[in-house]
Amino acid sequence: MKINDLTFLPQYDDKLEQNAEYLRQILPFMSKNKIATNPLNFAIFYEYILGRNIDLNNDLDEILAKQDDFTTELSVALFKKYICDTSIDSLERINHVLLQLINKTGDIINTTGEQANAATIDFQNHSKKLENNQNLAEIKIVLAEIIVGTQGLAETSMALKAQLDESKKEMQRLRQELAQVRETAKTDALTGLLNRRAFDQKLNEFVETHQHNALDLCLLILDIDHFKQVNDTFGHQMGDNVLRYTANLMKHHINEQHYAARYGGEEMAIIMPDTQINTALEVAENIRTSLSQYPLKLKGSKKSIGTVTISIGVSCFKINDTVESLIERADRAMYRAKENGRNQVMSENFI
Ligand code: GH3
Ligand code: MG
Ligand code: MG
Repeated sequence: MKINDLTFLPQYDDKLEQNAEYLRQILPFMSKNKIATNPLNFAIFYEYILGRNIDLNNDLDEILAKQDDFTTELSVALFKKYICDTSIDSLERINHVLLQLINKTGDIINTTGEQANAATIDFQNHSKKLENNQNLAEIKIVLAEIIVGTQGLAETSMALKAQLDESKKEMQRLRQELAQVRETAKTDALTGLLNRRAFDQKLNEFVETHQHNALDLCLLILDIDHFKQVNDTFGHQMGDNVLRYTANLMKHHINEQHYAARYGGEEMAIIMPDTQINTALEVAENIRTSLSQYPLKLKGSKKSIGTVTISIGVSCFKINDTVESLIERADRAMYRAKENGRNQVMSENFI
């Protein structure tokens, strides 16, 4: 799903006529399935009709097939899971804790400030009493008062240090949590690869920098062959396992300067900065052969699900390229690989 970076909300930028078409489909569909047309449900079914979020559609298909009540709890859960990125929950929580922490630290500093002021006044009074005072008994009393005051101040500053240490620890914990949320927001939950949003961002960054220098930049688009058959024959769950397996193979074959992403559905992509086309083709070929080399087996069973293959298109940055033109050429090369019989790597140069 396309998501706005700042708000974590989905983005809708279809034309008015297209929207009208969605509307013509959504309302009868909701009515047929006896779904209340409240804003939450409407957003869920709008996404469903758009069909860009395959996991949501699979979940909804299963739910609707059962014909159970579409309860408010279910609606909220689906909305949180698929429409409004759940990382917003964590962000709100972090924000809340951070505010509390700032207020608490502010209070501590204020209290200490007040105590320090009071102590300063006390010390000034004591020092006045001591000036030119020859009376030993009085000096003793003032000294005792000074000792008590100093002890109080020492205790206060120790308590302040303990409280500040605690706040520091809490802030470090929040910082880690924030890093975790950031990581989750970039990651595809099924495969652990970068998600589409992170892929778009990275590719944009690289295309922008490559417009100003002459370094190489290659893009691979990988699409599993006849993946629908895997789902149809062995079930969606098994399809998910194949996706995870393929993603792990990709991670294994790329190096740390490459960025592997789930581009959408059973389509993946790899951004290869500072990489020449020959190296990109080599990596693509390694991924392809290691996937097609052996038939995949069901975990814990001898049953085979057969050989899974992948078609890969490769494009390389050219002067005046945009993100779109670079993707378009890799995509075209990938489709040419499909037309040529699948299970192969095709460079844009071979088209
Ligand atoms: P081709 O060789 O032409 O690419 O054929 P294909 O069957 O791979 O392509 P098609 O586009 O017809 O089907 C893609 C299928 O991928 C359909 C969809 O259900 C499935 N799919 C997409 N995302 C997921 C997912 O997250 N999990 C599973 N299990 N299936 C998915
Ligand atoms: Mg496919
Ligand atoms: Mg596809």
